[in-house]
Amino acid sequence: MSDKNQPREPFSRRSFIQTAAMTAATLALPGCSRNEKPVLSTLTGDFDPLRSYPYRGWEDFYRKIWTWDKVVRSTHSANCTGSCSWKVYVRNGVMVREEQAADYPRINADLPDYNPRGCQKGGCFTEYVYSPQRLRYPLIRTGERGEGKWRRATWDEALTTVAEKLLDNIYNYGPDTNSFFSVIPAMSPVSFCAGSRLAHYIGGVFLSFYDWYCDLPPGEPLTWGVQTEACECADWFNSKYIVLWGSNISQTRIPDAHFAYEARYNGAKIVCISPDYNASATHADLYFRINPGTDGILALGVAKLLIDQNLIDAPYVKEQTDLPLLVLSGTNRFLRDSDLKKGGKEDIFYFWDTKQQKAVPTPGSMGSDQKTIQLSSADPALTGTFHVPLADGKSAEVTTVFELLKKEIAGYKVDKVAQRTGLPAYEIELFAKELGTRKAAMIIHGAGTNHWFHNDLSNRSLILLVALTGNTGKNGGGFNHYVGQERIWPEQGFFKLAFPETRKKQRFQNTTLWSYVHSTNKDPHLYNGKPIEWYIQESVKNGWMPLWPKNGKKPRAFIVWRANYLNQAKGNEILESSLWKDLDLIVDINYRMDTTALYSDVVLPAASYYEKVDINTTDCHSYIHPFGKACEPLFESKTDWDIFHALAEKMAEVATKKGLKPFHDEAFDWNRDFTQLAHDWTGKGAIQSDEQAVNFILGNAEETKGMTYQQLQEKPKRFIATDPESWNSDIEEGVAYTPFKHQLEKKRPWRTLTGRQQFYIDHPWYIELGEALPTFKEPVDEKYPLFWNTPHGRWSIHSTWRDHRAMLRLQRGGPIVYMHPDDARKRGLQDNDWVRIHNEVGQCVCRLQILPGEKPGRVTMYHGWEKYLGFKEGGWQSLTYIKIKPTQLVGKYGHVNFRLNYWGPTGNNRDTKVEVEKAKV
Ligand code: SF4
Repeated sequence: MSDKNQPREPFSRRSFIQTAAMTAATLALPGCSRNEKPVLSTLTGDFDPLRSYPYRGWEDFYRKIWTWDKVVRSTHSANCTGSCSWKVYVRNGVMVREEQAADYPRINADLPDYNPRGCQKGGCFTEYVYSPQRLRYPLIRTGERGEGKWRRATWDEALTTVAEKLLDNIYNYGPDTNSFFSVIPAMSPVSFCAGSRLAHYIGGVFLSFYDWYCDLPPGEPLTWGVQTEACECADWFNSKYIVLWGSNISQTRIPDAHFAYEARYNGAKIVCISPDYNASATHADLYFRINPGTDGILALGVAKLLIDQNLIDAPYVKEQTDLPLLVLSGTNRFLRDSDLKKGGKEDIFYFWDTKQQKAVPTPGSMGSDQKTIQLSSADPALTGTFHVPLADGKSAEVTTVFELLKKEIAGYKVDKVAQRTGLPAYEIELFAKELGTRKAAMIIHGAGTNHWFHNDLSNRSLILLVALTGNTGKNGGGFNHYVGQERIWPEQGFFKLAFPETRKKQRFQNTTLWSYVHSTNKDPHLYNGKPIEWYIQESVKNGWMPLWPKNGKKPRAFIVWRANYLNQAKGNEILESSLWKDLDLIVDINYRMDTTALYSDVVLPAASYYEKVDINTTDCHSYIHPFGKACEPLFESKTDWDIFHALAEKMAEVATKKGLKPFHDEAFDWNRDFTQLAHDWTGKGAIQSDEQAVNFILGNAEETKGMTYQQLQEKPKRFIATDPESWNSDIEEGVAYTPFKHQLEKKRPWRTLTGRQQFYIDHPWYIELGEALPTFKEPVDEKYPLFWNTPHGRWSIHSTWRDHRAMLRLQRGGPIVYMHPDDARKRGLQDNDWVRIHNEVGQCVCRLQILPGEKPGRVTMYHGWEKYLGFKEGGWQSLTYIKIKPTQLVGKYGHVNFRLNYWGPTGNNRDTKVEVEKAKV
């Protein structure tokens, strides 16, 4: 969008001052008339500051920054969740600066608006675009991986190398040996789809990211049958009680934190639960400096207080949760229709109706004919033990899930909880009382809690609190998880572009499992006496989790774009020396040289965020806005869309030249004719450009029907509707989006086996491992004294901007680890010392910063530091390893089934413990 009214060379301030000074001097001189030549000798030469000042050049340069030829709307896609619309100013083809667009339409006059959105990283992206780390040309490795030795290649040579290898793998080893990794479609879906379409048409393995990054909250698919669904951040303002649980919004939700703090003017109280006294804690009415890894026991202790003090919303619990459902005392399984009748269904469940004094089927379960959870006249019992006649004529004792829950949490008395969490008992009681009485109440949930091994248990325990108090499904209430820019709003349009031939015909793979199995990573723990390998084998054998490639083959090619796999990989050196070493070809598509690019074989230069056409959404708000081409991709870079298009064309060319016959992909009965690959990839020629791809997504989604890319360049637009297939509430005019109104207001069943918020999972593994109900389990690694905490930081979005000059200046310019003064004193460490952080897995060496706000017994390094950015040894992931939780391998249980980025083992890392000592450097 160009601003045609803006003059290219405006009348400069300097010429204005000179003219004005001359005029004033002329008029002031005695005897000076229009007919006489003015004599200005006293104001010339050294006495004239305007003429003699020697540094006019840079002043002009500075002033000209505020002139431009055109303004283009764009944003950033680094998985920050911000999704902020920016204007990029361009002069003479150079992107000179950016400015927050600040034109999000208001939801209603009583809610604070989203303007202006942004953070300090977004405010300096133009500089990043021209920085030395920018990739300019295709590169082919000449030294060892990671050595940094490259030669410049032509696009033709680089693409031919990749195309030949991918085809070679397909015909010689099978299509499942080609693997593809990209992340977070919401942040730039067209870029994502460019590669996913290629993976789709060549039968490659498409790897997950949300579970691998441990941003997926597994408690949500378990309890609600959704991947994640949270309120948009404007809804925080509607809350009267905001609990920041492991979420440091001042630091990690910079554009949105104001909604929570402004809510205090609207009567809200803020509770902050975090081991460190952080930037968000300073705003809290109640601050819990909790012991690391004990969130679950606090939640269950509070649940007990809510129940004991009758602070629960019983009508809500009876209608919306599985707590009244009956469980057979002998087997600990739900009472099912099949238990009561011969030929009865496995997915119909029962509660005890106190009016009829008998067990009646609950409406809305997966097997129920009723597509509602409305109870009509029934009144389910929450407590009690009953007897029911079984199909075999015998009688069986049943009780409710609520009774079992009370039994489960009976031990979590407030003194015990206080002792384990390190919190005062009276403050826990105060918290329970306020949570039970201030409506609406919400939990803002973050990675601080989610990145633990038992994240599913703590998720379920926290969700229990907002269910017991009747807060989920209401504006200002609920459990709202914000880690990663997870949901893409126009989801159905995106799916059609990403995996066009139907989503079933794709090799999807959980990355945690893939990385574990194909490397020498080893989890030493036993689960119920069995190693994790036993659970993995069972899960794969039962078809619960896929494992590609099949038949013991190794992955051979790995293509990464829009991601930094190696920076994020748990057990970094372990992976590098096994999985990574075994790969024949690693391709990285990137606009900057990051750790993954450095350790690749072929690097293809991609357009940056300001050089491409795409769209951007987040669950933090309900608007869509675009990426725009402020200028053509710099140097020899290309957009992701054009790179994969060119690769598809190159593969077709190679297949034609080699006379390759169509490959019969047996798994899908798919005859893949690679000579036609570019034709297929472009949707038979219909989607050639990235703008066409954007319009394809917009036109195929309920949320964005009728919108076009060009319209989005004008200003952000709010979604017009939600597709009921993807979402659980409507977009309402004047109302901030919050999920699960369909269930609460329209009485639609929850997307679970029981049709209710399901806290009881009666899968045999859950029962066997003692996790049928939310419970508390201790962190799994105890050997070393200090927890290793690697949260999201203020000065980068993951690894992006980590190497930005301006951001480095705001810290100490390199990786640092924070430690409490007491811990430092005990170890004889001084501020700024070089320290060695180590455990049985590995080590890293960096500088120490002593920080009184840190929790004793824990050290923190903000994550994302590239390995080459100042460590003397190792990196932040050198101390972690992959630990798979057996219960997260389960599948084929009602709503609990593998789906990419929806359900699968998470790559947790917070249970890691370390020791720190002075380093010899
Ligand atoms: S980096 Fe993210 S949070 Fe920051 S301005 Fe850009 S989009 Fe917004």
